[in-house]
Amino acid sequence: MIDLRSDTVTKPTEAMRQAAFEAEVGDDVYEEDPTVTRLEATAAEMLGKEAALFVTSGTQGNQIAVLTHCQPGNEIVMEENAHLFVYEGAAISAFAGVQPRTIRGKRGAMAPDDVRGAIRSEDIHFPETGLICLENTHNKAGGVVVPLENMQEIYEVAREHGIPVHLDGARLFNASVASGVSLKRYAAQTDTVQVCLSKGLGAPVGSIIAGSSEFIQRARKWRKRLGGGLRQVGMIAAPGLIALTEMIDRLKEDHDHAKRLADGLANGRGLVLEEQVDTNMVLVNVKEAGHDADSFLAALEEEGIKAVKYGPYTIRFVTNYGVASKDIDTVTERIHNRFGTVSS
Ligand SMILES: *Cc1c(COP(=O)(O)O)cnc(C)c1O
Repeated sequence: MIDLRSDTVTKPTEAMRQAAFEAEVGDDVYEEDPTVTRLEATAAEMLGKEAALFVTSGTQGNQIAVLTHCQPGNEIVMEENAHLFVYEGAAISAFAGVQPRTIRGKRGAMAPDDVRGAIRSEDIHFPETGLICLENTHNKAGGVVVPLENMQEIYEVAREHGIPVHLDGARLFNASVASGVSLKRYAAQTDTVQVCLSKGLGAPVGSIIAGSSEFIQRARKWRKRLGGGLRQVGMIAAPGLIALTEMIDRLKEDHDHAKRLADGLANGRGLVLEEQVDTNMVLVNVKEAGHDADSFLAALEEEGIKAVKYGPYTIRFVTNYGVASKDIDTVTERIHNRFGTVSS
């Protein structure tokens, strides 16, 4: 089986397993786990923020950010296919008591004027806009890189209105490697940021949220309330440190693989690329191949390939370090043999 469902399927490297084994630990609720403290300091430094907090998952990180920034009855402005809106079980409404205000973006980027237009004025009828949420890379749009300039313009709008900005940067490392824009420059366009250690970087567990010291102090309390205060958690923070220090540069390999896979798939009969490949994702429409997403996935499975459904006729492939260069050739070959090529 060649597993291209997600970069979350990556398993910890030997170095990560060794680091977990050897990790120096303490009780992190007392802030006495030296490994966690080192991970948080390293992450804060890399993101150019005062402080950082290790959390169990990207979803928990985003939710803690929402709970810390917002009050019940607030509204959050976000892109209509934001992870926070589509894939987090309406947690913002279930837990924080806030509602989403969604905007249709282009390649995951909201037009700054649309954001400006969505911000609520003072009126007894209206909710207050408590937060603007950005996502980079944008997952549902196909792992696309949202331009730094777009983030800058939205941050200016936000500051004019005194509204905080949170970046769902689950794959910010991919954006940075693909664009050459540093993590710090992206993070400087937002008040807070969430990054995943357990996606392309391969750590077994965990995310980071970063922001001002004051924000992180309040976020730490929300993490505890949610049951996310963990004890000798240096065991899982140690692989996270390796993710941050040794695993970022190699993402370029995943991006190269995705481009090569996209070229191969584009030559498959009836297969249409839905989006230009910026990072590690390839979105393919299979309708002209006479399939819907479910029947195409079933056929792929028979060929020893796993991917996921991303729409009625859309399949998503995600390259990751468990997928070698020769696997990309194998996938392309098997798909060409099964479905034919444009030329055949
Ligand atoms: C994966 C992902 C998350 C959530 O991360 P989990 O660790 O799976 O909870 C949040 N935002 C985006 C954009 C993601 O791709």
